Amino acid sequence: MIKIGSHVSNKGDEMLVGSVLEAVSYDANCFMVYLGAPQNSYRKDFDSFRNKEFHKLLKEHKINIDDLIVHAPYIINMANPDLEKREFAIDFLTRELLLMENLGFTKMVVHPGNSLGDDNAINYLKESLIKILDNTKNTNTMILLETMAGKGTEIGRNFEELAFLLEGLPEERVNVCFDTCHTFDSGYDTFNDYEGVLEKFDEIIGLERIKAIHLNDSKNPLGSQKDRHENIGYGYIGFETLLKFVYDSRFKDIPKVLETPYIDGKAPYKEEIEMIKMKKFNPKLKGES
Ligand code: FE
Ligand code: FE
Ligand code: ZN
Repeated sequence: MIKIGSHVSNKGDEMLVGSVLEAVSYDANCFMVYLGAPQNSYRKDFDSFRNKEFHKLLKEHKINIDDLIVHAPYIINMANPDLEKREFAIDFLTRELLLMENLGFTKMVVHPGNSLGDDNAINYLKESLIKILDNTKNTNTMILLETMAGKGTEIGRNFEELAFLLEGLPEERVNVCFDTCHTFDSGYDTFNDYEGVLEKFDEIIGLERIKAIHLNDSKNPLGSQKDRHENIGYGYIGFETLLKFVYDSRFKDIPKVLETPYIDGKAPYKEEIEMIKMKKFNPKLKGES
């Protein structure tokens, strides 16, 4: 069975109970959440997450917690040339991993960071990573560095940068989340050469380091570096190429998570998951816009 799900919310009084029920309503068997608002570092107290009921529901619906992903807030910048801000990022991500450990989550996706124009930033970033791993060495948690579109000064826009970050770090603690929109947007032509792109990834990083896939189409052509996600089959990557990721036997055990845009204020995930499972594009999901 393929592992497919989407980003779901984690809010209100329902918190993680709501997350599971939302995922189940889409016929998903995995999902991704933020532990707070994506744009801030505020966190509710542990009891608010409804941990016990959360685990009961996962069991009931036969969802494996290792297939779930926590996304770190995107304001966190492990590469920030400003030492104080970098220390904040290290401290925050350490606490986030400890919270995850208490909730039972094992995988955290994080945007590697922004250099803000400083050539040394990637070295700062690596130091930050090492510190965070050391601070959380007694946990069963893993950091997944996301492949980035290369918007602004984003680090992680190519496989070489990610390989540099991973080099020498423990394989059981740091790996990669492959975002199909971002890689295409940063210039890897999966539409014309799916195998070639994966071969390149394998050479530079190793395909076994991919532990999650963000399955998104792209609103913009190859190499645009704009990072605008599109609904499955409605963008420049297209339905056929996205299906290749889903049904690639090498990614069989890896959760694939949709982060595609809402349509008319509604989550499209149930319909998108359905078309992926049916292997049939649904041209009616979205009108001309
Ligand atoms: Fe992301
Ligand atoms: Fe993503
Ligand atoms: Zn994105």
